[in-house]
Amino acid sequence: MVTDLLLPWLPGLRLDAISATDTTLALVLTAIRTEAICPLCAQSSGHIHSRYTRTVADLPWAGRAVQLQLHVRKFFCRNPVCPRLVFTERLPALVAPSARRTLRLWAEQRQLALDQGGLPGARTAARQGMPISARTLLRFVRGTPLAPSPTPRILGVDDFAFRKGRTYGTILVDLRRHTVVDLLPDRSATTLARWLKQHPGIEIISRDRANEYADGARSGAPSAIQVADRFHLLKNMQEALQRLLERRPARLREATLAVPQTDTMAAADGPASSPPAAPQPSDTPPSEGPIPLAPDEAAATAVGAPTASSSARERERVGRLPATQPTPLSDVDEHASIAEHGPLASRERRLARYHAVRSLDAQGLSLLSIARQLHLSPQTVRRFVRADQFPERARRCTAWQKLEPFIPYLRDRMAAGHDNALQLWREIRDQQGYKGSGRTVSRWVEQHRHLVPTPKGGTATPKRGGRPPKTVERSPPAPDRALSARQAAWLLVKRPDDLEENERLIVERLCAGSAEVKVAYPLAQEFMRIVREHHADAFEGWLARADASGLAELQSFVAGLRRDFSAVLAALTLPFSNGQVEGQVNRLKTVKRAMYGRASFDLLRRRVLAA
Ligand SMILES: [Zn+2]
Repeated sequence: MVTDLLLPWLPGLRLDAISATDTTLALVLTAIRTEAICPLCAQSSGHIHSRYTRTVADLPWAGRAVQLQLHVRKFFCRNPVCPRLVFTERLPALVAPSARRTLRLWAEQRQLALDQGGLPGARTAARQGMPISARTLLRFVRGTPLAPSPTPRILGVDDFAFRKGRTYGTILVDLRRHTVVDLLPDRSATTLARWLKQHPGIEIISRDRANEYADGARSGAPSAIQVADRFHLLKNMQEALQRLLERRPARLREATLAVPQTDTMAAADGPASSPPAAPQPSDTPPSEGPIPLAPDEAAATAVGAPTASSSARERERVGRLPATQPTPLSDVDEHASIAEHGPLASRERRLARYHAVRSLDAQGLSLLSIARQLHLSPQTVRRFVRADQFPERARRCTAWQKLEPFIPYLRDRMAAGHDNALQLWREIRDQQGYKGSGRTVSRWVEQHRHLVPTPKGGTATPKRGGRPPKTVERSPPAPDRALSARQAAWLLVKRPDDLEENERLIVERLCAGSAEVKVAYPLAQEFMRIVREHHADAFEGWLARADASGLAELQSFVAGLRRDFSAVLAALTLPFSNGQVEGQVNRLKTVKRAMYGRASFDLLRRRVLAA
């Protein structure tokens, strides 16, 4: 009666006793069927051989762990032709033979492992009254059978990082069904080729421009049409420009540091040619070059540094596919990890690394062995080796973005003669809800001292015998505003129509400050148009012109395009794009993070495919 009420799913078992502690509930259950079926010959038998007790864990009840003590029996098989003489009674609806937990507890725990991973899953399980070790949870994941997914007709291939800059795997996505088809443990040609051979019938392979994938696709699915992913084409263009800009970090800083302010003074005074005593807009670049300085209203805003999200936007424009997530995998480099705190300490560490790289490079070590020795990514090593001086890191602009809404107020206060940064910081913090740091405010104030009216009578000549006049100090340009080569390169590939006014100025400065950029910029823009607008017929001509530019970075880009010519041409004529793969990669990253980086590849793969 009570058994029927509490355990209606257990026909054939009688509840004999319940005992409870604070944390557990033990149910004593006895098998009451008079006969059992031999698992080998399927004949039923009523000849009891012996009795025994097995204990299995079940789903928790009211937060308590539940244990079932099952009194079950062994039977003789009386079938003369059956080799089995004795068999144990089975309870197929409840528990697998010789298992220590019921089927439904196992299913619950396994789902927990798929959703949360080993350690977090184990914690949740313990809280819920079904304790289990992380190791066992992971064993469940490993044992999860994967449903075979149909071979896709259009396959997207891209890489993802196990550890950024060091080890990579490959993600395969069905571009029509929008599902992950499989993960591969590396990004080699052979691994991809092997997978493709095991999954014949793929018609189109959209891939990034890594040679390995091209080779793998060629040998694994020779009849499939290969399409270079358009986003990767654009990204490769951007990377070529980035390398070009990295050659001269000083010039890059010069061009991107000074964002003109709205001050009329900037127009009146022009670049640094006026006498030092005159109040000067402190942001005027210390440069003699023919740098256009337009006092534009729109330029007053902080530089909208193109971060990862603008590349996602770029993908959207290019591929006409929604960019599911703002961060393309390969686009997050060391810049993304800069925290707001401790920039100085971080700069010193980076500087030390820079010198270490340079000295190893001088000793003739290869990029890769330097990277291995110093635990740096090969990209960072390459950047350090190529730069003609220490490449300062562009800080993210979030600090300035936070300050931006308060700038009109600060201007007013400065114009009224208040230039105490600490005081101003307190004002906007307490009265207006500014959440940024005081350091940002004080840096801004430092750069805008010229807004404070100078007392009449002129301060240009020193008073005889007195102290020298308080000239408006020319503060060093704020390092915060320099763009990284990567960010500047994104500006160079952005549609001119989409450039903010200040970004347009930076592009102009970059072109004016460097003959190389001046040559590269129109070529880059033309390439972007060709890719975006599918001008396949203009492609050959562009290749020839870019090759003739004399710029090593463009020439090597062109050589790469020529090596991959048919796939690139397909990208200019076919509508496929790997845009959605990014979203899948991001989901994968979430799973990966939840596994605390200790997951083996097999676990990761199962969790991504089974979840
Ligand atoms: Zn039998």
